[in-house]
Amino acid sequence: KTPELTGTVTDSCCNYETVDVATQAHFHPLLDELRTLSFFRYYKADLTKECPFWASNNQCANRDCSVCECSKEEIPAKWFEQDAAMREAKEKALNEPCDEQRGEGELSKIDRKNAAVGTNFNPWYTVDKDDVEQDNEDNLIYVNLLENPERFTGYSGNSAWRVWKAIYEENCFHSKELCLEERVYYRLISGLHTSINTHVALDYRFGDHWGPNTKMFVARVGAFPERLQNMYFTYLFVLRAVGRYREVLLNYDYSTGNEYDDKRVNEVLRALFDVDNSAYNASCRAPTDSRAVLFGFNESMLFSKGISVAHQREQFRLKFENVTRIMDCVTCEKCRLWGKIQILGLGTAIKILLADDIHDLPPLQRNEIIALINVLHRLSESIEGVSRFRQMEFEDALKS
Ligand code: FAD
Repeated sequence: KTPELTGTVTDSCCNYETVDVATQAHFHPLLDELRTLSFFRYYKADLTKECPFWASNNQCANRDCSVCECSKEEIPAKWFEQDAAMREAKEKALNEPCDEQRGEGELSKIDRKNAAVGTNFNPWYTVDKDDVEQDNEDNLIYVNLLENPERFTGYSGNSAWRVWKAIYEENCFHSKELCLEERVYYRLISGLHTSINTHVALDYRFGDHWGPNTKMFVARVGAFPERLQNMYFTYLFVLRAVGRYREVLLNYDYSTGNEYDDKRVNEVLRALFDVDNSAYNASCRAPTDSRAVLFGFNESMLFSKGISVAHQREQFRLKFENVTRIMDCVTCEKCRLWGKIQILGLGTAIKILLADDIHDLPPLQRNEIIALINVLHRLSESIEGVSRFRQMEFEDALKS
């Protein structure tokens, strides 16, 4: 049976009951609409990369594992223009020596080019010839996330286990001083793992129809309070990052050419951030911060003690970069797609929370913003899903 969780979510400033109520009444319905709007429903991904850690060439052929690419007409035309401008700028930058005399590196040239074409599509990677992790533009495809939902695919056994194991093993910071970061890393990964397995149980294939699988949920998630606790922590972590990025998100250019959706994105985002007078905000306020909006988590507790702060931050960032690479070892294409989105979303949240100055937050790439909102939506769906499973367990118990 799935336990009721009470009290404060460890490492946060929020209690379980408040999170449940605010998620069901406020966050989840709004996020559930936001992720359907044009800007948030198309994700650009390279699903063809080889696993850099072990041989894993037996891709799953199950129909539930496959991902369908969008037709070109579906994608906002503006995005293709931005892609072409990015490609051109990158190629040009690669062929030009770095203009050190004017103090201008390759990255700033791309920034300048972006500014010239009027995009707010900021590069995540510097143009580095040694950066093997750069996506190959030729292999990038656009995917409609609504048509490729994250759900049960049958991906399991050795292959899935090996990937999860490799991800958990990244949690080795080689220093006793970093125990808080180790705990946070573990909790974020375990929370994401719980959330993914909750989605699998929520949208399970029973022969020719889909529905929630209560037994599977209890066996993989409900029977483990610690896994649930980690999921609430991860949710609050990402919620806090989105709250911290509020001003940028509210002023971002979301135009895709779809008049209704473009207008609606701003309305929904405004509504999402409108929690100033809610019980949630009163109960989830970080004690040190009076700008209490979507808080519930005090990131100043992190990355501030021990050896060199810069070193800690770099370590944390590198861990997530490695996890991104491990995603290429997932042999189910749909799981790989959603794994990549959610890891990028978590990495983006970390990037936002690591920034010292709330007035100098890092610029984000379009895909990062899409991933951030989608991972928050997936987590809110899981939080809401746990309540639904509890209710189903209760009704099953009454029947028997
Ligand atoms: P697993 O979930 O594979 O877990 C392996 C071991 O990790 C467990 O035995 C347990 O010891 C430990 N563990 C389990 N949960 C936690 C936790 N929350 N915290 C800490 N430790 C834990 N399957 C789908 O059907 N659809 C998907 O979209 C999908 N996406 C995936 C994405 C990724 C990146 C990966 C790696 C797997 C994905 N899977 C997906 C597979 C799914 O997550 C499970 O691996 C699979 O269902 C088998 O589950 P399991 O119960 O055997 O244990």
